[in-house]
Amino acid sequence: MVKVYKMNDGLSIPAVGFGTFKAADGEEAYQSTLAALKAGYRHIDTAAIYRNEESVGRAIKDSGIPREELFVTTKLWNDSHSYEAAKEALATSLEKLQLDYVDLYLIHWPNPKAIRDHWEEGNAEAWRYMEDAQQAGLIRSIGVSNFLVHHLEALAKTARVTPAVNQIRLAPGCYQEEVVNYCREHKIVIEAWGPLGQGELFTNTEMQVLANKYGKTIAQLALAWSVYEGFLPLPKSVHQDRIKENLNFDDIKLSAEDAEQIKQLAGATPAPDPDSKDF
Ligand code: NAD
Repeated sequence: MVKVYKMNDGLSIPAVGFGTFKAADGEEAYQSTLAALKAGYRHIDTAAIYRNEESVGRAIKDSGIPREELFVTTKLWNDSHSYEAAKEALATSLEKLQLDYVDLYLIHWPNPKAIRDHWEEGNAEAWRYMEDAQQAGLIRSIGVSNFLVHHLEALAKTARVTPAVNQIRLAPGCYQEEVVNYCREHKIVIEAWGPLGQGELFTNTEMQVLANKYGKTIAQLALAWSVYEGFLPLPKSVHQDRIKENLNFDDIKLSAEDAEQIKQLAGATPAPDPDSKDF
């Protein structure tokens, strides 16, 4: 996978990333990350709350791949939405990952339950630290996750740096039109979490019929669609064969008609509402 996207800060990001949510700390996260790096992924997506940064970091180190060839993302959890807490959170993540810098650091959720009455201030303060950490070289690019338009607009009131990335749930049948359009207008790279519908796509007959038509698997079709839309998918698997399969979709040339059908797929779980989540 050689394709990259250009971010609004001038840096490049590999157009597919390896997801690690629910890859258990220890052997599972270590072996799957190592397998992904061997298979050719150069972009790894983790988060403090996944509690697997140590194993992911160990796999990165043991892979022997030069640091500058890798793109590593981690995320600020919901208990760290202040300048000082963000500073501590990043230091902890870097230590666990055994890295001097991360390529991308994201505010994981815009409206944590604990600060629901002052989330704007929480995001602004965490962001202020992230801007300083970027200046200091601890983070290359800074971004957000699960932000809707009103969260992005609130952040823009105080931000010195526009987010380079917004990582949101996007999958066949789960298409967040309003925020996707906003990100496109502001040249914010749109990362797709749950690009395989978090597993639910695999029993979808509409997807199976289309996948058969292209002679590919459902996973490959969903990923080809994601890139067709200009999204950056983050497929997750802990199985070597699937890890490889999920990188092998470049040859799918989707027709506009089929892409539209995938966009409108019935029965998909909608994206969660970040303003009412119970965490
Ligand atoms: P996903 O859509 O990647 O689905 C993963 C599941 O699909 C796996 O558990 C596996 O059971 C199955 N699968 C994977 N490849 C397959 C294949 N080729 N054939 C059959 N089954 C296959 O879901 P996800 O892991 O929730 O999302 C992807 C990544 O996005 C995460 O790992 C994480 O890095 C990120 N993420 C971010 C957020 C956020 O709030 N920012 C939330 C969820 C996930």
